[in-house]
Amino acid sequence: MKVENEMTLIIPALSKNESFARSTVAAFAVEMDPSLEEINDIKTAVCEAVTNSIVHGYQKQEGLITIRSKISGKVLHITVEDSGIGIEDIEKARQPYFTTKPEEERAGMGFTVMETFMDTLEVLPNEKGGLKVIMTKTIKG
Ligand code: ATP
Ligand code: MG
Repeated sequence: MKVENEMTLIIPALSKNESFARSTVAAFAVEMDPSLEEINDIKTAVCEAVTNSIVHGYQKQEGLITIRSKISGKVLHITVEDSGIGIEDIEKARQPYFTTKPEEERAGMGFTVMETFMDTLEVLPNEKGGLKVIMTKTIKG
């Protein structure tokens, strides 16, 4: 993969950073001339991943979220990583409507949304026991 541009953003797990993170990744992708729809898809996917790190990974406690993005040709790569509690059964967590927080009116649709709005989605444990979400999207413009 030939990387033409890249960025790393490290932010505290605060809900006010959800919109900051999604706007930052969207701004980074602008050089790819995405359509408005593609920009919104990217923003939505990033927001879902960052929200998950805040509410599930860190259970609204302190922690850092690392967001990396790379441009390779027409493909935008986005990684969202936390050092939170992680997921025991990732396959189960990815199912539509699966949530461990129904009392907070969570729909269990975050991963499904990421999958729908991006081309690929990988969900992996990381070395720190947290979660790593890798997404890619081909930008057609
Ligand atoms: P919604 O996104 O619709 O508000 P949700 O967050 O519960 O609801 P998903 O985003 O699909 O739904 O996540 C499914 C489940 O996976 C979560 O309920 C949680 O148990 C687990 N999960 C997701 N992201 C993380 C994370 N970063 N760390 C730990 N657990 C996570
Ligand atoms: Mg979610």
